[in-house]
Amino acid sequence: MIIVMKPDHTKEDVLNIINKLEDFGLRAHLSEGEHRTIIGAIGDERKLQEVPFLSFPGVEEVHPILKPYKLVSREFKSENTRISLNGNVFGDKKIQVIAGPCAVEGREILEEIADELSSLGVPFIRGGAFKPRTSPYSFQGLGEKALKYLAKVREKTGMMVVTELMDPRDAVLVAKYADIIQIGTRNMQNFRLLTEVGNIDKPVILKRGFSATIKEFLMSAEYIVSEGNEKVILCERGIRTFETETRNTLDISAVPLLKQLTHLPVIVDPSHAVGRVDLVPPVAKAAVAAGADGLLIEVHTRPESALSDGAQSLRPNAFKKLMDELKLIAEAVGREI
Ligand code: PEP
Ligand code: MN
Repeated sequence: MIIVMKPDHTKEDVLNIINKLEDFGLRAHLSEGEHRTIIGAIGDERKLQEVPFLSFPGVEEVHPILKPYKLVSREFKSENTRISLNGNVFGDKKIQVIAGPCAVEGREILEEIADELSSLGVPFIRGGAFKPRTSPYSFQGLGEKALKYLAKVREKTGMMVVTELMDPRDAVLVAKYADIIQIGTRNMQNFRLLTEVGNIDKPVILKRGFSATIKEFLMSAEYIVSEGNEKVILCERGIRTFETETRNTLDISAVPLLKQLTHLPVIVDPSHAVGRVDLVPPVAKAAVAAGADGLLIEVHTRPESALSDGAQSLRPNAFKKLMDELKLIAEAVGREI
């Protein structure tokens, strides 16, 4: 349920409602926007059926939220959530770009890649320190050593660090080094992990599970936001279908659909969606045309010797070409990149 307050409501009116919700075992989520103050009732709304909130002082409107996800829904908040990191805003006109290797493989190679990206003005570097590999025998990541290399890159280039958290036990460690914490596709429904990042004051990129519906995706985002962390960026990265020519199938309609259903920023990872370097640029363009707020792209200076995902990693020159071409697409849909 959403309770919209009148413009001239008092603090006491708000407290009164919060107390009432708590009396019924629900939690209040207060959203004090520029124009309106809204109180979201979190919990089992059926208990509120008999409470005449409309006759409470200061209350203008009362709306039930019909969707199972509430805090992340557009019904709850109509304007876009903007997540700003040093002036780089997700959910605004400018499309944000995150690029880098699949995994941090060593200090020198990371710096080589970072120097290329930094010279192209890319604000965010990505790189896994903890890698969720399908095989236990594949490269698992360098752990804290990798996080330290990423932090060194940030110090040297000013680029902000995006890296994956796989295990709640590593949450404090990863949060210490990351500017944005990534939750991977395989962990989209690791509810313990979601709760953990919901209690960290850092933006989170939540990747769509490769077999998750849009509703399940949004329910996972709801887990994070309901814990108090509202800085969630959704990432469509392809879903599993019967097709085997591509690694996954990019659900392009997920972008405009999510933008309708939620106020959270939506980005696209074309690299994991297609798994093939030749298809990354056209799919990235489609993502921008469809209204994505950002792109997450794997880039490597030596993809032939990459320890993971070399086949889908763009070389810096191909990445640069893509960025130039994307400018036209962005402009055509009223955006900037
Ligand atoms: C990644 O971005 O490094 C990654 C493992 O992606 P996903 O979780 O989408 O497979
Ligand atoms: Mn990868």
